[in-house]
Amino acid sequence: MTVRTRFAPSPTGYLHIGGARTALFSMLFARRHKGKFILRIEDTDVARSTEESIQAILDGMNWLGLTYDEGPFFQSKRFDIYRKHAYELLEKSLAYRCYCTPEELEKRREAALKEGRPPKYDGRCREITEPLDKPFALRFKVHPGTTIVEDIIKGNISFDNSTIEDLIILRSDTTPTYNFCVVVDDATMDITHVIRGDDHINNTPKQILLYRALGHALPVFAHLPMILGADKARLSKRHGATSVMAYKEMGYLPHALVNYLARLGWSFGDQEIFSMVELVEKFSLENVGKSSGVFNPEKLLWLNQHYIKETPDEELAALLVPFLEGLGADPKGDARLPNIVKTLKERAKTLKEMADGGLFYFKEKIEYDPKAAEKFLTPENTGLFASLIGKLEPIETFTHKALEDAFNLILEEQGLKLGKLAQPVRVALTGGTVSPGIFEMMEAMGKEMAVKRLKDALGFMQEPRAV
Ligand code: GLU
Repeated sequence: MTVRTRFAPSPTGYLHIGGARTALFSMLFARRHKGKFILRIEDTDVARSTEESIQAILDGMNWLGLTYDEGPFFQSKRFDIYRKHAYELLEKSLAYRCYCTPEELEKRREAALKEGRPPKYDGRCREITEPLDKPFALRFKVHPGTTIVEDIIKGNISFDNSTIEDLIILRSDTTPTYNFCVVVDDATMDITHVIRGDDHINNTPKQILLYRALGHALPVFAHLPMILGADKARLSKRHGATSVMAYKEMGYLPHALVNYLARLGWSFGDQEIFSMVELVEKFSLENVGKSSGVFNPEKLLWLNQHYIKETPDEELAALLVPFLEGLGADPKGDARLPNIVKTLKERAKTLKEMADGGLFYFKEKIEYDPKAAEKFLTPENTGLFASLIGKLEPIETFTHKALEDAFNLILEEQGLKLGKLAQPVRVALTGGTVSPGIFEMMEAMGKEMAVKRLKDALGFMQEPRAV
Protein backbone atom coordinates (compact mmCIF):
# COMPACT_ATOMS: atom_id res chain seq x y z
CA MET A 1 0.00 0.00 0.00
CA THR A 2 1.31 3.43 -0.91
CA VAL A 3 0.76 5.96 1.81
CA ARG A 4 -1.22 8.95 0.56
CA THR A 5 -1.89 11.95 2.77
CA ARG A 6 -3.43 15.29 2.05
CA PHE A 7 -3.72 18.83 3.30
CA ALA A 8 -7.16 20.21 2.63
CA PRO A 9 -7.39 23.86 3.61
CA SER A 10 -10.49 25.98 3.11
CA PRO A 11 -9.31 29.19 1.47
CA THR A 12 -11.11 31.63 3.72
CA GLY A 13 -8.10 33.43 5.22
CA TYR A 14 -4.34 33.23 5.50
CA LEU A 15 -2.35 30.06 6.21
CA HIS A 16 -2.65 29.67 9.97
CA ILE A 17 0.12 28.26 12.17
CA GLY A 18 -2.17 25.32 13.02
CA GLY A 19 -2.90 24.63 9.35
CA ALA A 20 0.80 24.76 8.57
CA ARG A 21 1.49 22.19 11.28
CA THR A 22 -1.22 19.90 9.85
CA ALA A 23 0.33 20.28 6.40
CA LEU A 24 3.81 19.63 7.79
CA PHE A 25 2.79 16.46 9.65
CA SER A 26 0.92 15.18 6.60
CA MET A 27 3.90 15.86 4.37
CA LEU A 28 6.41 14.34 6.79
CA PHE A 29 4.33 11.23 7.20
CA ALA A 30 4.04 10.77 3.43
CA ARG A 31 7.77 11.37 2.91
CA ARG A 32 8.66 9.04 5.78
CA HIS A 33 6.76 6.24 4.10
CA LYS A 34 7.83 7.14 0.55
CA GLY A 35 4.24 7.99 -0.21
CA LYS A 36 2.48 10.94 -1.79
CA PHE A 37 1.31 14.21 -0.28
CA ILE A 38 -1.64 15.89 -1.93
CA LEU A 39 -2.91 19.45 -1.72
CA ARG A 40 -6.64 19.93 -2.02
CA ILE A 41 -8.28 23.32 -1.79
CA GLU A 42 -11.72 23.00 -0.21
CA ASP A 43 -13.39 25.94 -1.87
CA THR A 44 -16.99 24.76 -2.00
CA ASP A 45 -18.08 27.66 0.18
CA VAL A 46 -18.13 30.10 -2.70
CA ALA A 47 -19.17 33.00 -0.53
CA ARG A 48 -16.18 32.70 1.80
CA SER A 49 -13.46 31.35 -0.50
CA THR A 50 -11.22 33.91 -2.16
CA GLU A 51 -8.43 33.93 -4.73
CA GLU A 52 -6.21 35.92 -2.33
CA SER A 53 -6.62 33.28 0.29
CA ILE A 54 -5.72 30.49 -2.15
CA GLN A 55 -2.61 32.46 -3.04
CA ALA A 56 -1.83 33.06 0.65
CA ILE A 57 -1.98 29.31 1.32
CA LEU A 58 0.25 28.51 -1.66
CA ASP A 59 2.71 31.27 -0.66
CA GLY A 60 2.82 30.09 2.94
CA MET A 61 3.46 26.48 1.95
CA ASN A 62 6.05 27.51 -0.57
CA TRP A 63 7.87 29.68 1.95
CA LEU A 64 7.95 26.86 4.49
CA GLY A 65 9.14 24.37 1.89
CA LEU A 66 6.01 22.22 2.16
CA THR A 67 6.00 20.65 -1.25
CA TYR A 68 3.17 18.45 -2.52
CA ASP A 69 3.25 15.70 -5.08
CA GLU A 70 -0.24 16.11 -6.49
CA GLY A 71 -2.60 19.03 -6.80
CA PRO A 72 -3.64 21.57 -5.95
CA PHE A 73 -7.05 20.06 -6.63
CA PHE A 74 -10.00 22.38 -6.30
CA GLN A 75 -13.29 21.08 -5.00
CA SER A 76 -15.11 23.76 -6.98
CA LYS A 77 -13.97 21.98 -10.16
CA ARG A 78 -15.19 18.58 -9.00
CA PHE A 79 -18.92 19.18 -8.54
CA ASP A 80 -19.82 16.65 -11.26
CA ILE A 81 -17.95 13.93 -9.38
CA TYR A 82 -19.80 14.68 -6.13
CA ARG A 83 -23.15 14.74 -7.95
CA LYS A 84 -22.45 11.43 -9.59
CA HIS A 85 -21.68 9.80 -6.24
CA ALA A 86 -24.68 11.41 -4.58
CA TYR A 87 -26.98 9.96 -7.23
CA GLU A 88 -25.37 6.56 -6.86
CA LEU A 89 -26.31 6.64 -3.19
CA LEU A 90 -29.86 7.62 -4.19
CA GLU A 91 -30.08 4.70 -6.58
CA LYS A 92 -28.94 2.32 -3.90
CA SER A 93 -31.55 3.78 -1.52
CA LEU A 94 -28.77 4.91 0.78
CA ALA A 95 -29.93 8.46 0.19
CA TYR A 96 -33.37 9.94 -0.46
CA ARG A 97 -35.01 13.02 -1.91
CA CYS A 98 -35.98 15.58 0.70
CA TYR A 99 -38.57 18.16 -0.33
CA CYS A 100 -38.59 20.19 2.88
CA THR A 101 -37.90 23.84 2.19
CA PRO A 102 -35.32 25.82 4.19
CA GLU A 103 -38.19 27.82 5.73
CA GLU A 104 -39.99 24.67 6.91
CA LEU A 105 -36.78 23.26 8.32
CA GLU A 106 -36.04 26.48 10.16
CA LYS A 107 -39.55 26.57 11.67
CA ARG A 108 -39.21 22.98 12.90
CA ARG A 109 -35.76 23.73 14.25
CA GLU A 110 -37.04 26.67 16.27
CA ALA A 111 -39.98 24.66 17.58
CA ALA A 112 -37.65 21.84 18.65
CA LEU A 113 -35.34 24.23 20.44
CA LYS A 114 -38.31 25.84 22.19
CA GLU A 115 -39.50 22.46 23.39
CA GLY A 116 -35.99 21.44 24.46
CA ARG A 117 -35.66 18.73 21.81
CA PRO A 118 -32.46 18.35 19.74
CA PRO A 119 -33.06 20.20 16.46
CA LYS A 120 -32.46 17.15 14.32
CA TYR A 121 -34.13 16.49 10.98
CA ASP A 122 -37.04 14.13 11.63
CA GLY A 123 -36.57 12.04 8.50
CA ARG A 124 -40.12 12.60 7.24
CA CYS A 125 -39.16 12.54 3.53
CA ARG A 126 -37.66 9.05 3.91
CA GLU A 127 -41.18 7.67 3.52
CA ILE A 128 -41.89 9.33 0.15
CA THR A 129 -41.40 6.58 -2.40
CA GLU A 130 -42.44 8.22 -5.68
CA PRO A 131 -40.51 11.33 -6.85
CA LEU A 132 -42.54 14.52 -6.56
CA ASP A 133 -42.45 17.36 -9.04
CA LYS A 134 -40.81 19.74 -6.56
CA PRO A 135 -37.25 20.92 -5.87
CA PHE A 136 -35.41 18.51 -3.62
CA ALA A 137 -32.16 18.00 -1.79
CA LEU A 138 -30.52 14.60 -1.38
CA ARG A 139 -30.21 13.36 2.17
CA PHE A 140 -28.08 10.50 3.40
CA LYS A 141 -29.82 7.88 5.55
CA VAL A 142 -28.23 7.47 8.95
CA HIS A 143 -29.24 4.18 10.56
CA PRO A 144 -29.40 3.49 14.30
CA GLY A 145 -26.27 2.10 15.88
CA THR A 146 -22.91 3.16 17.12
CA THR A 147 -20.04 4.53 15.05
CA ILE A 148 -16.57 4.16 16.44
CA VAL A 149 -13.85 6.51 15.32
CA GLU A 150 -10.56 4.69 15.67
CA ASP A 151 -8.04 7.45 15.92
CA ILE A 152 -4.35 6.68 16.25
CA ILE A 153 -3.71 9.72 18.38
CA LYS A 154 -6.88 9.86 20.45
CA GLY A 155 -7.80 6.19 20.67
CA ASN A 156 -11.36 4.96 20.06
CA ILE A 157 -14.21 7.43 20.34
CA SER A 158 -17.72 6.12 20.02
CA PHE A 159 -20.68 8.09 18.72
CA ASP A 160 -24.34 7.12 19.02
CA ASN A 161 -25.85 7.42 15.54
CA SER A 162 -29.03 8.81 17.06
CA THR A 163 -27.11 12.05 17.56
CA ILE A 164 -26.39 12.26 13.83
CA GLU A 165 -29.13 13.50 11.54
CA ASP A 166 -29.79 12.40 7.98
CA LEU A 167 -27.37 14.82 6.44
CA ILE A 168 -27.90 16.65 3.20
CA ILE A 169 -25.30 15.60 0.64
CA LEU A 170 -26.62 17.58 -2.31
CA ARG A 171 -28.56 20.80 -1.80
CA SER A 172 -31.65 21.64 -3.84
CA ASP A 173 -29.50 23.96 -5.97
CA THR A 174 -27.41 20.81 -6.72
CA THR A 175 -24.33 22.01 -4.85
CA PRO A 176 -22.70 19.32 -2.71
CA THR A 177 -22.12 19.75 1.02
CA TYR A 178 -18.92 19.83 3.00
CA ASN A 179 -18.69 16.38 4.62
CA PHE A 180 -19.77 14.64 1.46
CA CYS A 181 -17.12 16.36 -0.67
CA VAL A 182 -14.41 15.50 1.86
CA VAL A 183 -15.33 11.82 1.80
CA VAL A 184 -15.75 11.56 -1.97
CA ASP A 185 -12.38 13.26 -2.37
CA ASP A 186 -10.54 11.23 0.23
CA ALA A 187 -12.05 8.06 -1.23
CA THR A 188 -11.42 8.86 -4.90
CA MET A 189 -7.96 10.26 -4.19
CA ASP A 190 -7.14 7.04 -2.31
CA ILE A 191 -6.09 8.87 0.83
CA THR A 192 -4.77 6.32 3.30
CA HIS A 193 -4.16 8.60 6.30
CA VAL A 194 -6.32 11.56 7.20
CA ILE A 195 -4.22 13.82 9.40
CA ARG A 196 -6.06 16.96 10.50
CA GLY A 197 -6.97 19.17 13.43
CA ASP A 198 -9.19 17.68 16.13
CA ASP A 199 -11.80 20.36 15.46
CA HIS A 200 -12.95 17.89 12.80
CA ILE A 201 -13.48 14.98 15.13
CA ASN A 202 -17.26 15.47 15.26
CA ASN A 203 -17.41 15.29 11.49
CA THR A 204 -15.63 11.97 11.45
CA PRO A 205 -18.52 9.61 12.39
CA LYS A 206 -20.63 11.14 9.61
CA GLN A 207 -17.73 10.71 7.23
CA ILE A 208 -17.23 7.10 8.29
CA LEU A 209 -20.88 6.35 7.52
CA LEU A 210 -20.48 7.97 4.11
CA TYR A 211 -17.32 5.98 3.39
CA ARG A 212 -19.15 2.76 4.12
CA ALA A 213 -22.07 3.78 1.94
CA LEU A 214 -19.68 4.51 -0.90
CA GLY A 215 -18.17 1.05 -0.39
CA HIS A 216 -14.73 2.41 0.31
CA ALA A 217 -12.25 1.23 2.94
CA LEU A 218 -11.70 3.69 5.78
CA PRO A 219 -8.48 5.66 5.96
CA VAL A 220 -6.49 5.82 9.18
CA PHE A 221 -7.57 8.86 11.17
CA ALA A 222 -5.11 10.98 13.13
CA HIS A 223 -6.63 14.05 14.75
CA LEU A 224 -4.06 16.52 16.01
CA PRO A 225 -4.79 18.33 19.26
CA MET A 226 -5.30 22.04 18.79
CA ILE A 227 -2.48 24.49 19.43
CA LEU A 228 -3.12 26.60 22.53
CA GLY A 229 -1.87 29.96 23.72
CA ALA A 230 -0.05 30.37 27.04
CA ASP A 231 -3.42 30.87 28.80
CA LYS A 232 -4.54 27.45 27.47
CA ALA A 233 -7.16 29.01 25.21
CA ARG A 234 -7.12 28.04 21.55
CA LEU A 235 -4.34 29.92 19.75
CA SER A 236 -5.70 33.13 18.29
CA LYS A 237 -4.55 36.59 17.30
CA ARG A 238 -4.73 37.57 20.96
CA HIS A 239 -1.62 35.47 21.54
CA GLY A 240 0.38 37.11 18.75
CA ALA A 241 0.66 36.47 15.05
CA THR A 242 -1.03 33.30 13.84
CA SER A 243 -0.41 33.75 10.14
CA VAL A 244 2.58 31.93 8.69
CA MET A 245 3.49 34.85 6.45
CA ALA A 246 3.47 37.25 9.41
CA TYR A 247 6.46 35.28 10.68
CA LYS A 248 8.22 35.80 7.39
CA GLU A 249 7.61 39.52 7.72
CA MET A 250 8.88 39.53 11.30
CA GLY A 251 12.16 38.06 10.11
CA TYR A 252 11.88 34.38 10.93
CA LEU A 253 13.65 31.80 8.83
CA PRO A 254 11.26 29.25 7.34
CA HIS A 255 13.08 26.26 8.75
CA ALA A 256 13.01 27.73 12.25
CA LEU A 257 9.22 27.77 12.03
CA VAL A 258 9.15 24.28 10.51
CA ASN A 259 11.37 22.93 13.31
CA TYR A 260 9.23 24.72 15.88
CA LEU A 261 5.94 23.41 14.47
CA ALA A 262 7.31 19.88 14.23
CA ARG A 263 8.02 19.87 17.95
CA LEU A 264 4.65 21.37 18.77
CA GLY A 265 2.86 18.18 19.62
CA TRP A 266 5.44 15.70 18.33
CA SER A 267 8.66 14.62 20.01
CA PHE A 268 11.66 12.44 19.45
CA GLY A 269 13.28 11.94 22.84
CA ASP A 270 14.48 15.31 24.00
CA GLN A 271 15.93 16.37 20.66
CA GLU A 272 15.01 19.95 19.73
CA ILE A 273 16.93 20.70 16.54
CA PHE A 274 15.96 18.80 13.41
CA SER A 275 16.94 19.29 9.81
CA MET A 276 14.24 18.52 7.25
CA VAL A 277 16.02 15.27 6.40
CA GLU A 278 15.98 14.25 10.06
CA LEU A 279 12.31 15.14 10.40
CA VAL A 280 11.49 12.90 7.48
CA GLU A 281 13.58 10.11 8.98
CA LYS A 282 12.18 10.38 12.46
CA PHE A 283 8.58 11.52 12.16
CA SER A 284 5.89 9.13 13.32
CA LEU A 285 2.27 9.57 14.31
CA GLU A 286 2.85 7.37 17.38
CA ASN A 287 4.98 10.12 18.83
CA VAL A 288 2.34 12.79 18.46
CA GLY A 289 1.10 13.68 21.94
CA LYS A 290 -2.51 13.39 23.04
CA SER A 291 -2.54 16.77 24.70
CA SER A 292 -2.46 20.16 23.07
CA GLY A 293 0.82 21.92 22.45
CA VAL A 294 1.20 25.39 23.92
CA PHE A 295 2.61 27.97 21.55
CA ASN A 296 5.79 29.38 23.03
CA PRO A 297 7.09 32.44 21.16
CA GLU A 298 10.36 32.48 23.13
CA LYS A 299 11.25 28.99 22.00
CA LEU A 300 10.51 29.92 18.40
CA LEU A 301 12.78 32.93 18.79
CA TRP A 302 15.51 30.74 20.24
CA LEU A 303 15.26 28.38 17.27
CA ASN A 304 15.32 31.30 14.89
CA GLN A 305 18.48 32.61 16.46
CA HIS A 306 19.98 29.15 16.18
CA TYR A 307 19.21 28.92 12.47
CA ILE A 308 20.40 32.47 11.81
CA LYS A 309 23.77 31.48 13.27
CA GLU A 310 23.80 28.30 11.19
CA THR A 311 22.98 29.95 7.87
CA PRO A 312 25.98 30.73 5.64
CA ASP A 313 26.74 34.46 5.39
CA GLU A 314 26.02 34.77 1.67
CA GLU A 315 22.65 33.10 2.04
CA LEU A 316 21.76 35.19 5.07
CA ALA A 317 22.81 38.34 3.22
CA ALA A 318 20.27 37.62 0.49
CA LEU A 319 17.55 37.04 3.09
CA LEU A 320 18.44 40.27 4.87
CA VAL A 321 18.25 42.52 1.81
CA PRO A 322 14.45 42.98 1.79
CA PHE A 323 14.50 43.88 5.48
CA LEU A 324 17.17 46.53 4.95
CA GLU A 325 15.25 47.83 1.95
CA GLY A 326 12.19 48.04 4.15
CA LEU A 327 14.15 50.43 6.33
CA GLY A 328 15.08 52.61 3.37
CA ALA A 329 18.59 51.26 2.75
CA ASP A 330 19.90 50.25 -0.67
CA PRO A 331 22.10 47.23 0.05
CA LYS A 332 21.72 45.37 -3.27
CA GLY A 333 25.04 44.71 -4.91
CA ASP A 334 26.98 45.97 -1.89
CA ALA A 335 30.05 43.73 -1.77
CA ARG A 336 30.38 44.31 1.97
CA LEU A 337 27.12 42.47 2.72
CA PRO A 338 28.42 38.99 3.65
CA ASN A 339 31.03 40.50 6.00
CA ILE A 340 28.44 42.81 7.50
CA VAL A 341 26.15 39.84 8.07
CA LYS A 342 28.96 38.01 9.85
CA THR A 343 29.17 40.85 12.39
CA LEU A 344 25.42 40.80 13.06
CA LYS A 345 24.44 37.15 13.03
CA GLU A 346 25.66 36.21 16.49
CA ARG A 347 23.37 38.66 18.21
CA ALA A 348 20.21 38.88 16.15
CA LYS A 349 17.18 36.79 16.95
CA THR A 350 15.36 37.77 13.75
CA LEU A 351 16.26 39.17 10.35
CA LYS A 352 14.29 42.24 11.32
CA GLU A 353 16.42 42.74 14.40
CA MET A 354 19.48 42.18 12.26
CA ALA A 355 18.40 44.85 9.79
CA ASP A 356 17.62 47.30 12.60
CA GLY A 357 20.99 46.64 14.20
CA GLY A 358 22.90 46.85 10.94
CA LEU A 359 21.20 49.81 9.27
CA PHE A 360 24.10 52.09 10.24
CA TYR A 361 26.31 50.29 7.71
CA PHE A 362 24.16 51.57 4.86
CA LYS A 363 23.25 55.11 5.84
CA GLU A 364 24.55 58.11 3.94
CA LYS A 365 24.79 59.98 7.17
CA ILE A 366 24.20 58.69 10.66
CA GLU A 367 22.48 60.48 13.47
CA TYR A 368 24.09 60.40 16.87
CA ASP A 369 22.20 59.29 19.91
CA PRO A 370 22.29 62.66 21.75
CA LYS A 371 23.26 61.14 25.11
CA ALA A 372 26.07 59.06 23.58
CA ALA A 373 27.35 62.02 21.57
CA GLU A 374 27.34 64.24 24.64
CA LYS A 375 29.31 61.68 26.60
CA PHE A 376 31.81 60.50 24.00
CA LEU A 377 32.11 62.95 21.11
CA THR A 378 33.62 65.64 23.34
CA PRO A 379 36.18 68.33 22.51
CA GLU A 380 38.67 66.45 24.75
CA ASN A 381 38.59 63.53 22.35
CA THR A 382 39.56 65.51 19.26
CA GLY A 383 43.27 64.76 19.67
CA LEU A 384 42.54 61.07 20.01
CA PHE A 385 40.41 61.05 16.87
CA ALA A 386 42.92 63.09 14.89
CA SER A 387 45.72 60.64 15.64
CA LEU A 388 43.47 57.66 14.94
CA ILE A 389 42.53 59.05 11.55
CA GLY A 390 46.22 59.66 10.92
CA LYS A 391 46.98 56.01 11.67
CA LEU A 392 44.06 54.61 9.71
CA GLU A 393 44.40 56.56 6.48
CA PRO A 394 47.62 54.86 5.34
CA ILE A 395 46.17 51.37 5.87
CA GLU A 396 45.20 50.09 2.45
CA THR A 397 42.50 47.63 3.39
CA PHE A 398 40.90 47.41 6.78
CA THR A 399 41.52 44.04 8.34
CA HIS A 400 40.89 43.04 11.92
CA LYS A 401 44.64 42.69 12.48
CA ALA A 402 45.63 46.03 10.92
CA LEU A 403 42.93 47.82 12.88
CA GLU A 404 43.90 46.19 16.13
CA ASP A 405 47.54 47.16 15.59
CA ALA A 406 46.62 50.78 14.85
CA PHE A 407 44.43 50.99 17.94
CA ASN A 408 47.12 49.43 20.13
CA LEU A 409 49.69 51.94 18.98
CA ILE A 410 47.48 54.85 20.00
CA LEU A 411 46.52 53.26 23.29
CA GLU A 412 50.19 52.75 24.12
CA GLU A 413 51.13 56.27 23.09
CA GLN A 414 48.38 57.78 25.18
CA GLY A 415 48.44 55.28 28.03
CA LEU A 416 44.74 54.45 27.60
CA LYS A 417 42.55 51.35 27.89
CA LEU A 418 40.67 50.13 24.79
CA GLY A 419 37.27 51.27 26.06
CA LYS A 420 38.40 54.91 26.17
CA LEU A 421 38.96 54.82 22.44
CA ALA A 422 36.50 52.17 21.33
CA GLN A 423 33.37 53.77 22.77
CA PRO A 424 33.85 57.19 21.12
CA VAL A 425 34.74 55.45 17.85
CA ARG A 426 31.65 53.29 18.13
CA VAL A 427 29.45 56.37 18.53
CA ALA A 428 31.22 58.04 15.62
CA LEU A 429 30.70 55.05 13.34
CA THR A 430 27.29 53.78 14.36
CA GLY A 431 25.60 56.67 16.16
CA GLY A 432 25.22 54.71 19.41
CA THR A 433 27.09 52.77 22.05
CA VAL A 434 25.97 49.27 21.10
CA SER A 435 27.44 47.57 18.06
CA PRO A 436 29.31 44.47 16.98
CA GLY A 437 32.96 44.18 18.08
CA ILE A 438 34.80 47.32 17.05
CA PHE A 439 37.44 45.76 14.76
CA GLU A 440 35.15 43.32 12.98
CA MET A 441 32.64 46.10 12.57
CA MET A 442 35.21 48.48 11.06
CA GLU A 443 36.54 45.75 8.82
CA ALA A 444 33.04 45.03 7.54
CA MET A 445 32.21 48.72 7.14
CA GLY A 446 35.28 49.33 5.03
CA LYS A 447 37.88 52.04 5.14
CA GLU A 448 36.08 54.63 3.06
CA MET A 449 32.98 54.85 5.20
CA ALA A 450 34.81 54.46 8.51
CA VAL A 451 37.32 57.22 7.85
CA LYS A 452 34.64 59.53 6.56
CA ARG A 453 32.54 59.00 9.67
CA LEU A 454 35.51 59.55 11.95
CA LYS A 455 36.21 62.82 10.15
CA ASP A 456 32.57 63.85 10.44
CA ALA A 457 32.73 63.11 14.15
CA LEU A 458 35.89 65.14 14.49
CA GLY A 459 34.08 68.05 12.88
CA PHE A 460 31.18 67.57 15.27
CA MET A 461 33.53 67.54 18.28
CA GLN A 462 35.12 70.77 17.18
CA GLU A 463 31.82 72.58 16.74
CA PRO A 464 31.31 75.25 19.33
CA ARG A 465 28.52 74.12 21.65
CA ALA A 466 26.29 75.74 24.23
CA VAL A 467 27.57 75.35 27.76
N1 GLU B 1 -11.16 22.10 4.92
C1 GLU B 1 -10.99 21.77 6.29
C2 GLU B 1 -10.35 22.91 7.04
O1 GLU B 1 -9.76 23.79 6.45
C3 GLU B 1 -10.16 20.53 6.50
C4 GLU B 1 -10.91 19.28 6.22
C5 GLU B 1 -10.17 18.01 6.46
O2 GLU B 1 -8.93 18.05 6.66
O3 GLU B 1 -10.80 16.97 6.43
O4 GLU B 1 -10.41 22.93 8.25
